[in-house]
Order: sequence, then structure tokens, then C-alpha cells
Amino acid sequence: METMTKSDLKEFRSETKRWLEENCPTSMRTPPKEFADLYWGGRNSTFSSEDQKNWFTKMLEKKWIVPYWDTQYGGGGLSPEENNILTQEMIRIGCRKPLFSFGISMLGPALHQFANKEQKMRFLPDITSGKTWWCQGYSEPNAGSDLAGLQTKAEDKGDHYLVSGSKVWTSYADKADWIFCLVRTDFEATKHNGISFLLIDMKSAGVSTRPIKLISGKSPFCETFFDGVKVPKENLIGTLNDGWTIAKYLLTHERQMIGGVGETDVRKAVHEIALENMPSKDGILSDSILRSEIAEIEMNDAVFEMTIQRITDEAKTGVNAGALSSFFKYYGTEQNVARMELISSITGTNGLLWESDNKDAVSVVRTFCRSKGNTIEGGTSEVQLGIISKRILNLPS
Ligand SMILES: Cc1cc2nc3c(=O)[nH]c(=O)nc-3n(C[C@H](O)[C@H](O)[C@H](O)COP(=O)(O)OP(=O)(O)OC[C@H]3O[C@@H](n4cnc5c(N)ncnc54)[C@H](O)[C@@H]3O)c2cc1C
Repeated sequence: METMTKSDLKEFRSETKRWLEENCPTSMRTPPKEFADLYWGGRNSTFSSEDQKNWFTKMLEKKWIVPYWDTQYGGGGLSPEENNILTQEMIRIGCRKPLFSFGISMLGPALHQFANKEQKMRFLPDITSGKTWWCQGYSEPNAGSDLAGLQTKAEDKGDHYLVSGSKVWTSYADKADWIFCLVRTDFEATKHNGISFLLIDMKSAGVSTRPIKLISGKSPFCETFFDGVKVPKENLIGTLNDGWTIAKYLLTHERQMIGGVGETDVRKAVHEIALENMPSKDGILSDSILRSEIAEIEMNDAVFEMTIQRITDEAKTGVNAGALSSFFKYYGTEQNVARMELISSITGTNGLLWESDNKDAVSVVRTFCRSKGNTIEGGTSEVQLGIISKRILNLPS
């Protein structure tokens, strides 16, 4: 790839600015408030508005659904510098992501690294075009933090694997088209060494899902059952019994995503929410304690975002953050909980409404509850602290 000069990049920025201003509908420049505001692609996702459809279509035509992937996979082929500019310009005017996809943030990086050529050509273009909704089949009833203890088995039956077992907490399994799954292929080996990474079509005979109802009502979680599911051998990614290597690699990307690395979505600043809800004079909040609490959160946010920017640059040039992703996951999610706690205290009883015509108020409590889930999914905060202690700080076990 040719190196771009400063003036090339300047031109790219002004062209990107112009294109986004012309093509991103005004309603797509507001933060998504609920699930229906997100487009996930695949056969079970529908557009919630014409604007959402137009925005997705425009970005698809521009090949900016995944702007930094190679053009042969339907990506935009942007350099890290160009991609940064696009991200900055999208954030500047508050553009929503046109597609939410575990295929982009989790499976894609693993396929780039471990899949063969045919597998890349088969699966990556359907991610960039939003044709496949992927879900993640890692956790099992007795394998969460201790993920390598998983028991779902895939037996070698000559021309296919026969998969039996169950997964739990599979987000959106009832809607997804495909699942990337960890399965046990060797029961004799030590537990990390008998795992393989398999892609399974959710339409296969023997796959079923059961949504898990939570205290809060419906939820995206499902139990996923595999009852003698025939899976073609070409759906195995990487080497048989070496799936743990892929599992860990994918988790580093999942943790960066949950921690907020590479995110373009804009959220309202805490001080803006406070000014809308609390007494102030000439744009200055009257409560000095609240002022310092907000300053602390916003300064931590700013510093974290700068660190994220650095790691995003490195990730786009092919450097994997490895164990550092645990730091991002831990800090990003705990910071998000702290921010949501402060916002909840600012919005007071309005923020506690679960159902209301006032959509802003509803999203506070729902977002607050969801932020707690961020500290669990992709590995809990306690588990991340364990990894940071051992793998980054080199503390004794
Ligand atoms: C919102 C959300 C979405 C999710 N989506 C998916 C999905 O799509 N696909 C999927 O496969 N899974 C998904 N999960 C499951 C998630 O990965 C697990 O919940 C998580 O790994 C923890 O496992 P567990 O629930 O079995 O808890 P456990 O492992 O039983 O942990 C229970 C408690 O013990 C603590 N603990 C356990 N081991 C240690 C240790 N070694 N050191 C210190 N403390 C420890 C934990 O921190 C936790 O507090 C999702 C979870 C959430 C909350």
C-alpha cells in the first residue's frame, strides 16, 4: 500500500467530511436508545426506519461497513490513518454504526488470523455485507470463567463432525444465522488441548434455542442445544484440538470491543446531562461536589480514550493487544458502571423509570443495568484482574 502524504490525508478528511454530511441522515446522528435502533444484518434483522436502511445501504456501497478490511472481502481497504480519520469524522457528527456485528468485532479478526483462503472467501464477505448474523457459543452451564472446562463434544464421523451438548448465555442465538463455537474434540488430552473452533449453521438439523427470561423480562440470552448436529469438516477453523489458541485470540478482540476500543458511537457527556437536570447559573452547575465528580469521570474518560486511540492504531496495523485487552476490558467496563451510577444519581427518580414515554429517561436505567453485564461478559472483572496480575504485572500466582 502506498504511503499517504499529509496533504493526501488532508484531502481524504475533507472528502470524508463532505460525504458523511451528505449521506448520513439526521436521525442516524443520534445515539441508539434501544435494541430496535440497532441493525444486526442476517435473515432475522429488520430495519427500524427508512433512514436506517438508507444509511446502511450508503455505507455498504461505499464499502465502509468494515472500512479497514481488505477489499477482496468487501472491506474498504483503508489504511490505519484513513480509518482513524473516518472514525474521528463519524464521531464528530455523531454517526451511528450502520451494522452491529459480532462477525466484525470478534469472529472476523480470528478468521483473518487462522482461517484458510477458502474459508476467508466464504465467510468474510457475508460479514461486510451484513448477510450473516453471528452469535458466540463459548459459555456452558459448567464452563464460564473456567471456559476450558467445556463439554460440548464434536465426534469425528469421517466426512463430518457430530456435535452434541449445550451452550448458555448465547446472546441472540434465537436470531443469529451462524454460531462460532468451542467444542471438545479430544477427551483424553489435558483440558486446554482438546478443544476445537467450529462454525455451525443455526439452521442445521438438531440445533435449537430457548430464550432465557430474566427478572427484567425478556432478554437476548438463550440456551443453545446441539442434539447430534452434523457439521461439515470444512467448517473447522485452524488446527484440530488447537481451538484454545483461537478462542484466546478472539477473546482479546471481544474484550477490546466491550472495553470500548474502536467504538464510534457517541454518547452524551455527563456534564450535558447534569446541566439539563440540575440547577445551574450561566452554564455552571451549582453543586460543587457534583462538579468535581463529573470532572473526575470526564477526565478519566478522556485519558482512557487517548489510550484506546493508541491501541486502535496498533491493532489496525496487525498488532494484537494480547493480555492488554484485559486491562481495557476491566477499566472500560468499570468506568462505564461508574459513569452510569453518576448519571443515575443526576437523573434521580426520572432515571429509574423502566417504561415511559420519555425515552431518554428509560434508557438511563436500562443502560445502567446493561453496564453491569459488561463487567461479566467476555470474562468477569475478577478474571481480568487475575490476567493483569499474572500476564502484565508478572505477579506470582
Ligand atoms: C451480557 C452478557 C452477555 C453474554 N453473552 C455471551 C455470549 O454471547 N456467548 C457466550 O458464550 N457467553 C456469553 N456470556 C457469558 C459470559 O461469558 C459468562 O457469564 C462469564 O464468562 C462468567 O461465567 P459464569 O457466568 O459461568 O460465572 P462463573 O464463572 O461461575 O463466575 C461466578 C463468579 O465467580 C468469580 N470467579 C470465577 N472464577 C474466578 C477466578 N479464577 N478468580 C476470581 N474470581 C472468579 C467470577 O468473577 C464471578 O463473580 C454473556 C454474559 C453476559 C453477562
